[in-house]
Amino acid sequence: MYADRIKHLPPYLFAAIDKAKAEARAKGVDVIDLSVGDPDLPTPPHIVEALNRAAKNPQNHQYPSYEGKLSFRTAVADWYREIFGVKLLPETEVLTLIGSKEGIAHAPLAFLNPGDLALVPDPAYPVYRTSVSFAGGTSHIMPLLRENRFLPDLSAIDPAVARRAKLMFLDYPNNPTGASADREFFKELVDFAREYDILVLHDNPYSEVYYDGQRSVSILEIEGARDVAVEFHSVSKTYNMTGWRLGAVVGNPEIVAGIGKIKSNIDSGTFGAVQDAGIAALQSPPSVVQDIRRIYQKRIDMLYPSLVDLGMVLEKPRATLYLWAYVGASSIDYAKRLLDQTGIVATPGVGFGQYGEGYIRFSITQPTERIKAAVERLQKMRT
Ligand SMILES: *Cc1c(COP(=O)(O)O)cnc(C)c1O
Repeated sequence: MYADRIKHLPPYLFAAIDKAKAEARAKGVDVIDLSVGDPDLPTPPHIVEALNRAAKNPQNHQYPSYEGKLSFRTAVADWYREIFGVKLLPETEVLTLIGSKEGIAHAPLAFLNPGDLALVPDPAYPVYRTSVSFAGGTSHIMPLLRENRFLPDLSAIDPAVARRAKLMFLDYPNNPTGASADREFFKELVDFAREYDILVLHDNPYSEVYYDGQRSVSILEIEGARDVAVEFHSVSKTYNMTGWRLGAVVGNPEIVAGIGKIKSNIDSGTFGAVQDAGIAALQSPPSVVQDIRRIYQKRIDMLYPSLVDLGMVLEKPRATLYLWAYVGASSIDYAKRLLDQTGIVATPGVGFGQYGEGYIRFSITQPTERIKAAVERLQKMRT
């Protein structure tokens, strides 16, 4: 019945964990779920109110425009200028997305012919690989290793492979490793992409979820990046709006236009009222995001030392919602043992690719008191 493209999808490894979680709950275990990348905090009220108002505007009741409201795209451009010092033309360098996942999933259709090569990191957000495969392309894996601070080693890519590659997916601050990339890395990346004529699709949903005052970088801050790169961004993680489905792709106008062409043949844009609310989000006073960041910082500061005490090997992340801990064992077995002994659910690293084996991803998307309870259980596990 099914087409090869879905028959050949990798097995959904998280299904096993979901089942174990459900079984533990059925047995009455008080499960603390640190496996999801979905903020527990609600969307700030001024954004919800903006949606309420915008939902009443009949102009928002008709088909939205394919490329998104100019007012929303202008708000994205203003936000990029304010946060990163990057200037964007809202008309041609910003495209509204139904969440960044939608744009990521559709992008390879615009650039890959069957058999074309894409450079994809591992471990990684699974959408990069499946979207390449849906477009008929082939993924060439770039391992993200601890000894390289979870950055791809561009010099290790065979020049013959680099010449064949049409595009590259990357995301820093990184899910699942929690690693960040500095300007030096992005410079090297832009040089590499220009040398080999590779389109860089940089996914940056965690840029505002940073700690200890260590701001994140946009690839578009790098000179020459606009010749080869776009960046996917989203209100999901910054403003606790994962359910709203609103994002944007920005940067190189030809890449933006290519993604727009695919989209205009598949969807009919994002609900106008959601875009209006997105404007309210992007124009929030800085205190809104600072408050969210402060909550996450507290949770990271609590959970990080307890994992180190347990003998796990990990860096304190500069950004993201994740702690990526090396446990030196089968990640699925370890996750099961963790659930059995503590009632804590965390994600086995192998679910993000073969180079995630041996690691466990802990997410801080539970209320702070639940994180505290998790820390207490982890301390008991040790003794
Ligand atoms: C959460 C996440 C996204 C998806 O964000 P949406 O805008 O909600 O679709 C994209 N990439 C990575 C790496 C993520 O973790």
